[in-house]
Amino acid sequence: MTTIKSSQTQSERVKQLHQELNQYNYQYYVLDQPVPDAEYDRLLRELQAIEQSHPELKTIDSPTQKVGGEAIKAFTQVTHQVPMLSLDNVFSVDEWDAFVKRIQDRLGSDKKLIICAEPKLDGLAVSLRYEQGVLVQAATRGDGATGENITENIRTIKSIPLKLIGECGIDYPDVFEVRGEVFMPKASFEQLNKAAIKKGEKSFANPRNAAAGSLRQLDSKITAKRNLDFYAYGLGFVGNLSSEIMKDARQAFLKPSHYQRLCQVKSLGLPMCPEVRLLSDQAQVQEFYQDILNKRDELSYEIDGTVLKVDDIALQERLGFVARAPRWAMAYKFPAQEELTTVDDVEFQV
Ligand code: NAD
Repeated sequence: MTTIKSSQTQSERVKQLHQELNQYNYQYYVLDQPVPDAEYDRLLRELQAIEQSHPELKTIDSPTQKVGGEAIKAFTQVTHQVPMLSLDNVFSVDEWDAFVKRIQDRLGSDKKLIICAEPKLDGLAVSLRYEQGVLVQAATRGDGATGENITENIRTIKSIPLKLIGECGIDYPDVFEVRGEVFMPKASFEQLNKAAIKKGEKSFANPRNAAAGSLRQLDSKITAKRNLDFYAYGLGFVGNLSSEIMKDARQAFLKPSHYQRLCQVKSLGLPMCPEVRLLSDQAQVQEFYQDILNKRDELSYEIDGTVLKVDDIALQERLGFVARAPRWAMAYKFPAQEELTTVDDVEFQV
């Protein structure tokens, strides 16, 4: 490491990091062939640190500024009306405290923040579009602006309703999008890999990789056999002011709290993670993190941390976004479990 640093200028190192991270992103998002996350995160953090001390080396095409990967051409493309962003992340109490301080400085207040705390589900972000209460389109995040149209595959996921509970114009407006994570439960992942090994076929590296591979199948009959699941974690585009009735329905639908919005989405028939909590102080945030970390192995799905969101939508709107992530949310990640799997001892299925 020291030799690399001494023999290279920072700008050469930045170039090299761009190249390596772009290659890893391609492997991860397009080929579903990840290198260990710890390796990826280490390089990304190194790049972030250089960019912080040398802002002149930060370019708009830097991997620190980009969301995800490009949509693959085998699917038709969907332009997101509201971008699907990523999340910034922290790994320690100090980094979390610094984040809270930044938010409070920006809001110009030291008033207590209510936080909506959720597990960080290790799957794939999707956007589900309902029109008149019927699922009409589902898309992957892609690069945040354009995703893949995976409607037929999403329709095979039993927990995602094709038709919502309630009445359009009363319980929800005529057009809205639900955002959430498609994931493969641990038990399904183990079964899938066992069956693959038995048949002498390739196995998947981890449940995220298996979920991504299963969702991006061109034949939805294969997806149907993969036993995927879904939890909603937010809203995307909401509403189309087509009439006074819909205008009122939209108004009523847009609750002032993120947590209330999730509960509302749940009442329409979409699954919400049962571990989601509203927290009113920083001690509770640390307890939630520790509690979820302790429960991690018992949960039936894979997680890699917690996601903490400012609950008040008006404050979220004031905080806004940076290039690739909202300022009002943060992934507070668990320490890497990496060494469990290395790319050399697993084969992948695309
Ligand atoms: P991310 O996974 O760190 O965070 C954003 C994503 O979190 C969202 O898109 C959403 O899908 C998900 N999420 C899960 N639970 C959520 C919740 N409750 N609320 C909101 N969002 C939730 O970001 P990313 O941009 O998808 O990926 C970056 C990370 O992926 C890296 O830090 C690295 O760990 C990994 N990665 C690994 C490789 C590799 O080669 N191993 C390559 C690229 C990225």
